[in-house]
Amino acid sequence: MKVNTLACDWCRGVTPAVASPTLVVGSSRKGSDPTLDLCKGHLGVLLRAFVPHQRTQLGLTNQNRRRTIAQVAADYNTKKVRDRVRHAKLPTKRAKHAARHEAALLNWETKSALVLAAMPNSGQRLSRPQIDKLVKLPKTTVLKSLKLLMQKGLVTKYGYKGPGALYEKIADAS
Ligand SMILES: [Zn+2]
Repeated sequence: MKVNTLACDWCRGVTPAVASPTLVVGSSRKGSDPTLDLCKGHLGVLLRAFVPHQRTQLGLTNQNRRRTIAQVAADYNTKKVRDRVRHAKLPTKRAKHAARHEAALLNWETKSALVLAAMPNSGQRLSRPQIDKLVKLPKTTVLKSLKLLMQKGLVTKYGYKGPGALYEKIADAS
């Protein structure tokens, strides 16, 4: 499918133009008046060029600070490239998610280590509410920690589901 979109005349790549300003010098418009198609950023550059320079107290315009439109336009292109590089460095959503997941796992490693340390040596079976009191962590935290410890084979569970179940630290674990 062919799509006809006006591209910015000042951009190096193809950027859609948002406006097509015409330069009218004199009192009336002519067909030969130069016109440009510009993107939003370059339109801003052009509009800034129409802002008069401030005069100093001596009545002189500071010529040194005056930059040509080409320079300003080139700077805008440079900024665009710089922005692209900068944004490319930002971590992706996937990377951020992975980092968060890793941090959460590490957090659970710490919590389950606390639970394991609080449990008595093997031979003694404790219920989850008893472990709660020893480790002073919320019951959901203790429950998840115990699950992790069981997955690692450091703790064994006896009995049924719920608060009636008993947990035992495995001898050579600590
Ligand atoms: Zn442009």
